[in-house]
This record gives sequence, C-alpha cells and structure tokens, in this order.
Amino acid sequence: MYPNQTQLNQTLKEYFGYDTFRPLQLDIINSIFEGKDNLVIMPTGGGKSICYQLPAILLPGITLVISPLIALMKDQVDGLHANGISAAFINSSQTANEHQDIFQKITDGKIKLLYVAPESLSFLDTIFSDIEISLIAIDEAHCISSWGHDFRPAYTQLGYLKNKFSNTPLIALTATADKATRQDICNQLNIPNATQHLASFDRKNLSLEVRPGNKRIEQIIDFLKRETNNCGIIYCLSRKTTEMLAEKLQSQGYKAEAYHAGIEHQKRSRIQEQFINDTIQIVCATVAFGMGIDKSNVRWVIHYNLPKNIEGYYQEIGRAGRDGLPSSTLLFHSYADVVQLQKFANTSGNQEVQMAKLERMKQYADSLSCRRKILLSYFGELIQEDCGNCDVCKNPPTFIDGTIIAQKALSTVARIKEQEPIGTVIDTLRGAQNAAVYDKGYNHLKTYGIGKEISWRDWQQYIIQLINQGYLEIAFHENNKLKLTTLSRHILFEGEKVSLAHLQELEKAKQVNIEQVSKAKASSLFEKLRILRLEIAKEAGIPAYQIFNDATLKEMEKVRPMSDEEFLQINGVGRQKMQNYGYQFIKEIINFTSEKKKKRKTSANKGNTHKETFTLYQQGLSIEEIAIERKLAESTIFSHIMKLYENGENIDLNQFINKADIDAIKKAKIELENPDTLKPYFEYFQEAISYNTIKIALAILEERAT
Ligand code: ADP
Ligand code: ZN
Repeated sequence: MYPNQTQLNQTLKEYFGYDTFRPLQLDIINSIFEGKDNLVIMPTGGGKSICYQLPAILLPGITLVISPLIALMKDQVDGLHANGISAAFINSSQTANEHQDIFQKITDGKIKLLYVAPESLSFLDTIFSDIEISLIAIDEAHCISSWGHDFRPAYTQLGYLKNKFSNTPLIALTATADKATRQDICNQLNIPNATQHLASFDRKNLSLEVRPGNKRIEQIIDFLKRETNNCGIIYCLSRKTTEMLAEKLQSQGYKAEAYHAGIEHQKRSRIQEQFINDTIQIVCATVAFGMGIDKSNVRWVIHYNLPKNIEGYYQEIGRAGRDGLPSSTLLFHSYADVVQLQKFANTSGNQEVQMAKLERMKQYADSLSCRRKILLSYFGELIQEDCGNCDVCKNPPTFIDGTIIAQKALSTVARIKEQEPIGTVIDTLRGAQNAAVYDKGYNHLKTYGIGKEISWRDWQQYIIQLINQGYLEIAFHENNKLKLTTLSRHILFEGEKVSLAHLQELEKAKQVNIEQVSKAKASSLFEKLRILRLEIAKEAGIPAYQIFNDATLKEMEKVRPMSDEEFLQINGVGRQKMQNYGYQFIKEIINFTSEKKKKRKTSANKGNTHKETFTLYQQGLSIEEIAIERKLAESTIFSHIMKLYENGENIDLNQFINKADIDAIKKAKIELENPDTLKPYFEYFQEAISYNTIKIALAILEERAT
C-alpha cells in the first residue's frame, strides 16, 4: 500500500493539524512507504517525529519506536493521544500486569505506535512472533555510536533488529550532524544502504545576540522585562552560579529554579516537570538540563557563561523555539570565562581538540560579521546572505580609525613589560588609583592615564578586538598576561593603521518602552488563550504545549476563528483537538473580541463625547436640545449626564425629574426592599416610569441619604 500525496496531506491535517509538510518530511515519508531504510539528520525542533508517526497511522501493523528516555515516552504517548492516535509505551517501571494489558491491546490491533527503551526490548520477545511490525524507528540514534556525545551501551544491541525483521523498513533519527557518527550509526544498525536525509541546521527563528558580560544580572532582569511570562533557560558554568542566579531572580518575583546534577534526583524531575508544565518560568541550569526536553514553547535561552564549544552552544540554544516562532538567545561573553575554560581544556584528555573548539567558540562570540554564517559554517553549511537576525546584522558595526587607540594600548603593554593581564593594562591606561597600579609604580609610566577618555568597558572591547586582529595575545600559561606579537611593531614603529569597530551603546538603543510592551502583552488575546491552555492542561495532566503549541495560539490570535470550520483551518488544529478543545477556545475568542469592541467604543467616545455634552449642558440646553444638537439619542445624552454626575461634575439632577416621581420611587424602594437592579422598579411601575427616571431618582435619594 502506497498512499498518494492527497492522502498524506489529509492525514497530516486530520491528525496533526498542519497544512504543509516541512522540508524533507515528505521525502522521508515517501521513502518509508517505498520500504527503504532511512537515516534522518535534522536539528532539534526540525520536526523529526512526524516522519515516523504519520506513516505509523497509515501502515497496517505496529510501529516500534526505540527511544532512550523513559521520562520522555509518557510525554510522547500523551501527545499522540491528544491527537487521537493510539499509542503505548513499555518500560521497566511498569508491572507485569500493566505489560500484559498493553500486550493484549497490541495483539488486538489497538495500538499504532509502541515506544520502548532499548533495555526493555526483551519484554517484547514473547509477542514478537504474533504481531505485525510495519516500521521500526530509532530516535536519538547517535546514542549507538561511541563517536557521538551521548553513547548508551544498550543501544549497541539494536543491530539485531534489522536481522530479525529484515523486511521491515527502519528509520534512524538524530540531531547530530557529524559525518563519522552518521556512518557509524548506519553500520551498527545494519542499514548500510539507508537513504540519508540531511536537513539544514539553520534555525532562522532563533535570534542570536552576544553581549559583554558586565553586570549580567542587571542585563538579565532587563531582558526578562521584555519576555513577560515567556519560559526560558539560563545556562551557567557552575552549580553555584545556577543557585545564586535562581535566588536573585526569585527575589525579583520570578518563578525560577536552579537545576544541576548535584540536586537530588526527585527534586530534579520535579523541576523539569514544572518547567514543562509552565509552572516554573525560568530554569537556571548547568548543561545537565535539557536533554530530551520536548517543550516546544521555550521562548529564550541565555548563556550566562561562554560555552566550551559550538556543538554544545547550538544544541542548547536549539531548545528555544521548537514551534518555529521567533525566540531569543543571548550569550554573555567575558574574558574571565575564557580563562576558566582554557584551564579546563588544558587539564582535559584531548587538550588540543578542546582548545581548538574553544577557540572557534570565542571567534563566534567576538565576531564582527554575521554570527549565523559562522555557526552554520561550523556545521559545514554555507549561507550566501547575511542572516538579518543576529545582533551584528541588526546593528552592523561602523569602523573608526583606531590607530591611536591601538598605539596607546600597545605602548602601555610594552612599558609594563608585558607582565600584566588585561585588567591592569586598562587600569594603567585609565590612570586608576589602585593597589595593582601603585604597588608596581605604573603611575610613573609615561602612558599612565593616557586613555582616561575611554570607559573601562570600551577599553576592554577595543583590546579584545586588537587580540582578534593579532596585535596582542593572551599568555594563558602565564596568568593571562597580555603580550605583544610580531604584528605589534607594525603599529608601534611603522605607522600601520588599525581599524576598530565603533562601540555603540547597544543596550540604550534597545530600551524600548518595556513597561508598555509588557502591559500590552498581558492583555492580549494570546495571553488569554495561553491561560486557558494552561487550565485545560492542568486538568488533563499533560504539558500545556501538547494541547496547542504557541505557533497555533498565535495564529488563533491573528485569525480569530469563531466557528468550528474556521477553527479547523488553523495550522496545528486536527480533528481530535478540535473536538476536545474547539468549543472552549472559540468561546474565549468570541468573548475577547466582543469585549474589545465594547471597550473600543467607550474609550473612543468617552473623553470627548462626555465633554461635549457637558459644555452644552453648561450652556443651559435641555437633554432633548442636546440630543438634537449632537444628533444622538436622548437616552445616550442622558447616560452622559449620569456619568458626568457620577464623576462628580456639577450637575443638578433635580431639574430632570418631578417631585411626585421621586416620592413614588422612594416608596417602591422600601416595598421592594432596595433591589440591586433597576428592573424590579420598572416592573413595579408596570413600565410607566422610564429607566432613566428611576436612575435619577435613586441617585438623588442616595445623595440625600449621605
Ligand atoms: P524534533 O523531534 O526534530 O526535535 P519535533 O518532531 O518535536 O522536532 O517537532 C518540533 C515542533 O514542530 C513540534 O511542535 C511539531 O508539532 C512542529 N511541527 C512538526 N512538523 C510540522 C509541520 N509540518 N508544520 C508545522 N509544525 C510542525
Ligand atoms: Zn546575521
């Protein structure tokens, strides 16, 4: 059986709610139906799951999914159920009875996808001969290779699967790009002829930004103001930093927690779960956090410290924006971090490789040209155009003649005999009056204080640029002393010109009115839908993003579907989810829209229209006359008058009512026992006295009473 394009599209919409396939998804699916083995390399968030989940729905037998993380299986199975797809998982945490139940369902043909950890495959031995396996998917396939960064011994037995089920197509999936690992995966899984599908690693929705690591906490708090309720991760180098940072953020009212390998297992799982369920907004973590987290609405990732290589960095920022919506990443770059990482690298096993990797990371952070180009070139992908979504593209540096700056720095380094690290060089340049300078008599040097006009921070940036251009270097083996290089003399003695990037006050430019932005966000339809989603998720005991991802909520906000048909048109709404949640979401959208309309009407009119009525009233016009003058209904003018009265304007209500009416209404008030609304009065008088008159009388009576 080989479904055609239309059937595939229908299945995609019906079960996953999406209108179109992402690049490669369709090729991969077709290849599976052709009975081929496949190796899929896609970045995190690229959309690997659908590549085997969709065929699983259409294939006659069961699809076996090998997945390394028990914790994740439940999530995936929940996600499939939410889409109306039957699935189950088998692992060692279940009882024999539970296993038996699942086996029964499998043999009854009631399960389409079965998730199993490699360690638990043996549980299936007894039923293997009774069931039809149509497809075998191996997720996180790099775990099979000791070349990869996540080797798991249990994965190495998986080679037998292809021998045992030689006619069943096998699909291996991973986000690890490296060529050696790729080949190793195919060899070990016995699928040497697998078709390889290599997706682009470009994640265009991730914005890239690098900032100097000064006053990081302040910068983070500023950053968070713009992110309002959005979830994110802050990666730190040390456990201590994660704790310090979490505490600081908590004291600012953020729901933040620290996460590292030193925290007790149960607590860690709890934190992870709360983050997945949106009850914790921020996790301050070491790199121990994140593997296997499928949360699609992580909106930002910050690196508090420089990561030690680009692979790790890219994987970590890749956890943001899996749903394809714009997401922010921010990396703090500090020389203290570089020094620390150099030390680690020097004490590690393969020192040279580690140092080279760190060097590439540093080049990325120091870059004055499109950062995405550097990242992708690291993964062997070349892009022609600048990306437009990194800080360098958005704010391209302008270059200045930096010759004098360079001369000042280099001659200071020369005069202090290349014996000091950056900090002391800058102190000397700026004429600092501290011990580091005085003790060594640098205050007597000719260059002492010649760089006063440049701030400490800018000096640091300029010196880093000089290092990157090869005019200075850091001697990491000698306490990070700044040293001259062979190029230095071109500047010092041969009049060579140096160009330096002008340091812009980037942060200043970004100080858009944060408060206004966050206020607007808080009252948006998206926010309302997000809250609704969270309520539903809590009740159902599944993560919020499994109900609908952020991209789908955004589209609802934009399109505002108000009927079932319209709702089903939204990308991300499949049949099952429409049945389960359509009513609630549509209701919320309708409520929001009508409330907004009302508000708009009143606020547009309010200020001016009341004022106009009041001016005419002051000129002595009656309600009737004002209504004619303003071409408005009498009842409208009347409501203006009442509003003006309530707002404390000087209005005498007695002129609009006669004494008899007041008395009658006073009597009714007693008889009706002071009702809350006007309707009982209206009915009491059998509609003979208007609502307006009742209102006025009550206001007057109230005034008299006080
Ligand atoms: P991966 O396993 O490669 O990290 P996922 O399979 O979890 O990625 O998919 C990432 C996100 O992209 C999920 O929210 C998923 O629903 C969404 N997605 C996948 N395919 C499509 C598609 N064709 N159109 C829109 N969204 C998609
Ligand atoms: Zn760029």
